[in-house]
Amino acid sequence: MTIFSKIAAGEIPSYCCASSEEFYAFLDINPMAKGHTLVIPRREVDYIFDLTDEEIARMHVFAAHVARAIKKVIPCVKVGEAVLGLEVPHAHIHLIPMQSERDMLFSNPKLSLPAEEMQSIADAIRKEFGE
Ligand code: AMP
Repeated sequence: MTIFSKIAAGEIPSYCCASSEEFYAFLDINPMAKGHTLVIPRREVDYIFDLTDEEIARMHVFAAHVARAIKKVIPCVKVGEAVLGLEVPHAHIHLIPMQSERDMLFSNPKLSLPAEEMQSIADAIRKEFGE
């Protein structure tokens, strides 16, 4: 079981932003910006492009709904999307609130936010998502 499967199953705590039968979204623990969220399929697949075409489509629709919720909560120009997957072998989409192109540089230093702030951001996104 990957660390992200354990998160989706509730075995490892996370700041949950949105959830469905098939997908789960939670705050990145080392955010590049406030509201940096990861979207994962519950099905354990390492490389995102090994998902079926239908799963990729559904995952992006789910991610779009999460991105709209993030945009309502975090003041930003747009929510950027990125896929790397070099660190954790469980497919995930990064959703990152952007003020400028520079906010998408993964070499940037990461933020360290207090647990209460992470919780309140996740709660606000979840509320906007409609859970
Ligand atoms: P990558 O696989 O290169 O897309 O990066 C994995 C991302 O997962 C990084 O941005 C990490 O900060 C994030 N990450 C790793 N472990 C956790 C965790 N337990 N909770 C939330 N985010 C995590």
